[in-house]
Amino acid sequence: MNDDQKHHDHDHDHEEKSPQAIRTEALESLLIEKGLLSEHAVDDVIANYAQRVGPMNGALLVARAWTDAEFKQRLLSNATQAIAEYDFQGGQVDHLVVVENTPERHNAVVCTLCSCYPWAVLGLPPKWYKDPAYRSRIVREPRALLAEMGLPLDKKIEIRVWDSSAEVRYMVLPMRPAHTEGMTQDELAALVSRDSMIGVEVLEASSRAGQPS
Ligand code: FE
Repeated sequence: MNDDQKHHDHDHDHEEKSPQAIRTEALESLLIEKGLLSEHAVDDVIANYAQRVGPMNGALLVARAWTDAEFKQRLLSNATQAIAEYDFQGGQVDHLVVVENTPERHNAVVCTLCSCYPWAVLGLPPKWYKDPAYRSRIVREPRALLAEMGLPLDKKIEIRVWDSSAEVRYMVLPMRPAHTEGMTQDELAALVSRDSMIGVEVLEASSRAGQPS
């Protein structure tokens, strides 16, 4: 590609849009033109998923559960009720079940039928979660698959796989990393990854490990 072409592409990046993106824009323009949809409504939905619906909500719950035993009990016994006060947007948590990782037991979540996922606490599912290979192998050979995904678990650790459905959605409560004593809930929440709440990752000790807090 010569410099002219590069410049051209840079100025006209709409030419690189996917057919899906073009189709979406065409539909949006049409609905707005016909007065069926306001531009604000579309922007609101996009902003909602970009800023307010996502794994940061789940991370907040995990950090609170690590520091508030009473909340943790409520979260494990009835998560839907326990998170009601947060008024998270995004839905799909009408029957949310939170399962706790322990030194003896590791939990992982799947939807073997399709891609059921607790949007309000984890946002939209990652691409691999919808992949048929993940959906079948996490059930058949969880230990081998988790190892391939970068999580080799000791044979002594029991692995439980929870199959989400249209009715029940699961979220994993990961173990609190070592050397995080004295951290605030916000600092703890920043350590919690999306994948640890699906159960395909465990959280490492804080990078502040060994430093006085
Ligand atoms: Fe599903």
